[in-house]
Amino acid sequence: MQELPELDIYRALLAEQFAGAQITGIEISNVRAFQASEEQIERDVAGKVIWFVERRGMFLLFHLDNGKRLLLQLGQGAYLYKGSETDGPARAAQVKLHFGTVSLYFVGLRADALQLLTVKEVEEKLGRFGPDALDKRLTIDRFISRFAKKRGSIKTSLMDQNVISGIGAVYSDEICYAAALRPDAKIPMFERETWERLYEMMHNVLKEAISQGGAGEQPFAEGDSLTGGHSSHFSVYEREGQNCPRCGGVIEKIEVSGRKAFVCSDCQKDQ
Ligand SMILES: [Zn+2]
Repeated sequence: MQELPELDIYRALLAEQFAGAQITGIEISNVRAFQASEEQIERDVAGKVIWFVERRGMFLLFHLDNGKRLLLQLGQGAYLYKGSETDGPARAAQVKLHFGTVSLYFVGLRADALQLLTVKEVEEKLGRFGPDALDKRLTIDRFISRFAKKRGSIKTSLMDQNVISGIGAVYSDEICYAAALRPDAKIPMFERETWERLYEMMHNVLKEAISQGGAGEQPFAEGDSLTGGHSSHFSVYEREGQNCPRCGGVIEKIEVSGRKAFVCSDCQKDQ
């Protein structure tokens, strides 16, 4: 799973390790993973310096010193690993970026997961998505207005990247639970108080997950004790049959628009 908290952990670790670092070599073992020609990579990536790393919704953006961007989407099972020639990840990497003696491995990438883009192309790609869930400009009023045309279940809309971006199957359940709302609660039923609770809990759940290292399954480097610290702290996600930490009820697995969801029917309500 790679949602906002997991990607934010990567952003922080990448920034700490690679901001200001020069890409001294590139190895690509699966050309489909990197959407750029060999010539473009040689011209626009090799020898360039990473200025900083940004997270936007479910994407990571490497800002290069020539104004170009590397846009990365980490799908299910994909991960990054910082090592060296002799310290690599458990699985084969499709792309390796070398920074002198340090290497950054990209593992489990799908086709076109890594793209070389101009600033304009990035905006064209990401501009259609809703604001980042933790964007400071996303006020409560703007948050509510994002859902104005939605009629279905709250979980489905929380996961809709065109509404707000960064939340997927896992944190939508955790946010609904924290707000004492059923994931299949219908949006038209909500009053302002419901939205305020949801808005506050969205921030709380995401920030707490980040502060505990997210729930990433693979360490970023040897000795990394930060990544994945939050995975034992989920309240309902994949906790079917266990007791609700809030009321002691039994957590159930239900289906919401064809997706699994986890809920305590004793303390999560329709509004
Ligand atoms: Zn409960």
